[in-house]
Amino acid sequence: MNTYVDTAMPSCARHPGRPATQYCQKSDRHFCDECLACANPKLYCPHRTACIIWFFEREKRREKREEKQARN
Ligand SMILES: [Zn+2]
Repeated sequence: MNTYVDTAMPSCARHPGRPATQYCQKSDRHFCDECLACANPKLYCPHRTACIIWFFEREKRREKREEKQARN
């Protein structure tokens, strides 16, 4: 059993034991790359403009849109 706890690297809120890479200021939670999604996109977030999670979500959406446009 791994009892090592690194306070500088918290684990993912959904995957205990997996190191988190992102932090959600709105929900005060840490997430890993796999969980990179806004917990509640419809809820107003005062940190959104600076939110790395939201930024990546937007990038993903843009990529999808561009993919679609490229096919048409
Ligand atoms: Zn996770």
